Parts: sequence; structure tokens; C-alpha cells
Amino acid sequence: MASKRAIDVVEVGPRDGLQIESVFIPTEIKIGLINNIAAAGVKHIEATSFVSPRAVPQLADAAEVIAGIDRSTGVRIQTLVPNARGAERAVASGIDEVMLFVSASDSHNIRNMNRLTMETMAGFPDVVTIARAAGAGVHGAVATAFGCPFEGEVTFESLFRVVDHYVDLGVININLGDTTGMATPPIVSRTCEALKKRFPAIQITLHFHNTRGLGLANVMAGLESGITRYDASLGGMGGCPYAPGASGNICTEDLVHLLHEMNFSTGIDLDRLIAAAKGLETIMGRQLPGQVMKAGPRLTLHGSEAVGRAVG
Ligand code: ZN
Repeated sequence: MASKRAIDVVEVGPRDGLQIESVFIPTEIKIGLINNIAAAGVKHIEATSFVSPRAVPQLADAAEVIAGIDRSTGVRIQTLVPNARGAERAVASGIDEVMLFVSASDSHNIRNMNRLTMETMAGFPDVVTIARAAGAGVHGAVATAFGCPFEGEVTFESLFRVVDHYVDLGVININLGDTTGMATPPIVSRTCEALKKRFPAIQITLHFHNTRGLGLANVMAGLESGITRYDASLGGMGGCPYAPGASGNICTEDLVHLLHEMNFSTGIDLDRLIAAAKGLETIMGRQLPGQVMKAGPRLTLHGSEAVGRAVG
């Protein structure tokens, strides 16, 4: 029997999901959440971000969170770093991999980091040097890879410019971020094909937000293009419930459910992941967008007497 194809699922909720929460989640709660996710078999977790604590107060406890994570599961911990100072703090905390980030479009980069795309990238060689000296892996994220909320379409030229720069630095793990949910399946297919053709050595991770309900459809397009690594957040957390357009990442347990149904292997125990997602709802004190956590996997059977009779 042919072995199942393996897909890497990267949990980014503790960073991408939590960063916009205005109420500070206590450090021990974050650590417990990350440990639950790792215990479910998730092998890659973006645990936090070493950005300025003033810019993102929610993640001000980055080093304490990393220190508290149970590493006996073999989980690899990655973190966002914006600059050399962040990289120093990150490697001192004992992370496995750092994630650089920049927007493909200048307008988004200016809005996010107050400088042009290439100005941000000018600081990356130092970060790469610090990470490599510490034996940490380096990933390069490209935000607004599938569209920019201020500029519209992002051309391949803009995308290639950034990836080219990463590849020059020896960074071949490229994370394509659909920051504001502008990707569609045809755009994902075109982009992945074009990048693979232009940069045959790169390893692509796809990072989708479900802003327009196309998250898992975009994953399907990625799978067809042979992409084997996807970011997702537990329960689909993220975004702001009061700001239309700011939606969370695709939901980790919904993604795992899809992948298992398609006969891909993830090494993840879906039931334990769902239990972790339900625990997260309790922590957040509100319903999360995840759907499989509410309905159960497709073969979850319900006793007939427990289910109300449909009328009509
Ligand atoms: Zn994101």
C-alpha cells in the first residue's frame, strides 16, 4: 500500500490569533494552550512574536512563553522577528526557527512597518546572521502575497522582488501570506506555479486567512500545486469581532479534518485537537469560527432520539 503523503500543519494561533486580543491572556494560559496543541501531535507552532512589547502588548511575555513550553513532544517552535534586536531576544529564548516578515506591496509595508519593502529587507542580513549563529532555521514571510488592501493586485514582479531577496540571503523557506484574505483558488495556483518555476529550490508554506470564506478552497488549490505546508490557527481564532474584514486564519482542526479525509497524513490526533479548540473557547469566553469543533468529524454519529426532528 502506498504510504500517505505527509502534510505539515503549522499552528500560528498563539501568535497570529492572540496578537490582536486586547485583553491580556496570562502567560501560563498561553503555555498551557501551546502544550495542548503540541500534545495533539502538531509538530510546528508559531508560539509568539519578538516585536516591540509596546506595539503588541499581548505578546510582551514572548521569552517567558517560550521558556514554559514542554519540548519533550519534539515540537519545533518558531517565532516572528522584525529586526536584529528581536532576533537576539528570540535566539536567547531558545526558539528553533525565526520568521522574517515583509509585505510584497510598499503601501502595506509602510502602514505596517513605516518603511518601504526594500528598506525593511535591508535589515534582514543581520537577522539571518544572528539566527544561523544560534543554529536556528530561518523562514521568510511575504505578507499581501495574493493582494493588497491598499493597492489591489500584487504583481508577480513585486512578489519575485521579495523572494529574490530572500533567496539571495539563503532563505528558501518562503511563507506566502494572504494577510487580508484576498487569495482565490486560481490566484493561488498561478502564484505557486510561477514561483516554483522561477525559484525551483524554495519550499513554500501557505498562510491563508478565511476573510472571504475561501480559506480551505485555497488550500485545495495549494495541494493541487504540490504545496505540503500550511499555517492555521486553532478554532480559527484571530481577527477582531468588531472589525469587518479582519478575519482569523483558516482553522487548524477544520484543515486537519479535510486533510485526513483526503488521505493525507498529518501526525495529528484530531479528537485531541478539537478538545484543545474547545478549551480555547473557554479561555476566550466566546465562540470561535471553527466548524468541525462544533459538528464533530463527519462520522460523528448522533443518537436519533437526541436530535430534534426536522419539520418540512
Ligand atoms: Zn496572518
